[in-house]
Amino acid sequence: MISEKMIGLTQNNSVIRAMFEEGNRLAALHGRENVFDFSLGNPNFPAPQAVKKAIIDIVNEEDPVALHGYMSNIGFADVRQAIADSLNKKFSTNFDMANIIMSVGAAGGLNVVFKTLLNPGDEVIAISPYFVEYGNYVGNFDGKLVVVPANSEDFQPDPEAIGKAISAKTKAVLVNSPNNPTGVIYSEDTIKRIAKVLEEKSQEFGSPIYLVSDEPYRELAYDGIDVPYLTKYYKNTIVCYSWSKSLSLPGERIGYIVIPQEVDDYQLIFDAAGIATRILGFVNAPALIQKVVARCLDEMTDITSYDDNRKLLFSLLTECGFEPVFPQGAFYMWVKTPGSDQDFAEAAKKHNILLVPGTSFACAGYVRIAYCVAKSTIENSKEGFVKLASDLGITP
Ligand code: PLP
Repeated sequence: MISEKMIGLTQNNSVIRAMFEEGNRLAALHGRENVFDFSLGNPNFPAPQAVKKAIIDIVNEEDPVALHGYMSNIGFADVRQAIADSLNKKFSTNFDMANIIMSVGAAGGLNVVFKTLLNPGDEVIAISPYFVEYGNYVGNFDGKLVVVPANSEDFQPDPEAIGKAISAKTKAVLVNSPNNPTGVIYSEDTIKRIAKVLEEKSQEFGSPIYLVSDEPYRELAYDGIDVPYLTKYYKNTIVCYSWSKSLSLPGERIGYIVIPQEVDDYQLIFDAAGIATRILGFVNAPALIQKVVARCLDEMTDITSYDDNRKLLFSLLTECGFEPVFPQGAFYMWVKTPGSDQDFAEAAKKHNILLVPGTSFACAGYVRIAYCVAKSTIENSKEGFVKLASDLGITP
């Protein structure tokens, strides 16, 4: 028999993954080109050419024993230093390799951070709607996810509500900007107000509350909108970054954790996070791809294609009478549903349109449409969306 915790998880397996499977089933029935699968945040655009070149060059140039061998659990020193230098150049920070731990994507980084910080029963505040796996990542270490809804007008986090939710058990507040699923970028004003609340509450309870920033979409910001770098606003900030989306490398599982020197208990946290990387079974982030990203720190997937998709989908949906939030970043559109979000998703399926109900992100009354798809998928889905609007009695 398997563990009780896993029995629960098996029964509630991810709705998004289930959608993905449903997409494959519908594709087998109707043909892939007739299924409009907007369910998964799997980038449709290839990694930049520089990634391919780096892979080939590194394999040709480097000593294979050193390249493919075991290493320090925290990753290659030269790679960590290159990342620190790049961050300093971009954000005027003051990091060096002693602040960087290579991770197995953002998911691996977050699990390492929670393993490092949490005792059973410790609370982590998440802002809903939030990435569906957060509950699992915190639950892995018997922490408790405390959900604070974002402001329903603009989906910015509500600093006052965060303050009210903080208790003596709060270890961390987990934020994600640009946001999955809303596409909202947290404003500097929001960040400053969150920082103030966390400072006051850390003082009130006599122990630091860490701000954990989950940043796989950092570079996916449109119209030149600034994405504030959080370590500059709050000293107890830990950043989990990933190249899954910025370089279209989700299967390669590569990212890093930033633990700034000024974080309370910095040395303990840094050392523990290295050990957590090892004992969670990652041992270290994948070797070859560490070297690859270090050569591609100024590279970026083609954001103009995402931007085109964003504008195209937004006008298509508004023309049909739907009410999407215009995304500032990431590659998701958050759309209000007239009735239940689950009914909406079911109704969409009848037209071979797959999207994810907001309930999966702890926010009913919306659906998420991932537009990291081919432009033609959006164009060809129009007929289905028009019929869906008509089925639901929505008029432009
Ligand atoms: N955090 C958010 C908000 C995400 O959307 C995702 C993936 O979609 C992840 C973390 C996991 O990213 P990674 O592939 O880097 O583990």
